[in-house]
Amino acid sequence: MYQNNNNLSRNLVYVEEVFKFLENEDCEVYVSSEKDFEFLSALEVLAGRPLNVVFYEENPCCPLCNSESDKNGRRIRYINMNKPVKIQKYICSDKNCGKFHETSLEKIVPKNCNYAYKLRFEVIEQLLIDYSSLNKISKQINQNL
Ligand SMILES: [Zn+2]
Repeated sequence: MYQNNNNLSRNLVYVEEVFKFLENEDCEVYVSSEKDFEFLSALEVLAGRPLNVVFYEENPCCPLCNSESDKNGRRIRYINMNKPVKIQKYICSDKNCGKFHETSLEKIVPKNCNYAYKLRFEVIEQLLIDYSSLNKISKQINQNL
């Protein structure tokens, strides 16, 4: 019984820390996978505002020589044309190589596209369900974004 109470109080501390973290408007949320990205929507609902998102690689390595890569600035990209996120850029630590690369979003947003897979599937589902016009679907989606 004592053990259960201890676990409960520890969980309460975690929840309190999450809310304290979300209240800080300067906080950055680090995303490294599509699962993190899905969880981000829930976090934004809890925070009641968009969060500062940084996409990064957990173990960045050079795509050419496979050496470790060092952080080398960030750039801003818009997902679904309206959600700004920061993309971590890297440079190869091998001085002879020096290849630049940045965190890939291809698991979340298809190459050469601005819209996330999730949003693209929502449009297709809506088309299949009620044959709505694209104009109507886009209005519905803009209300939900
Ligand atoms: Zn390299």
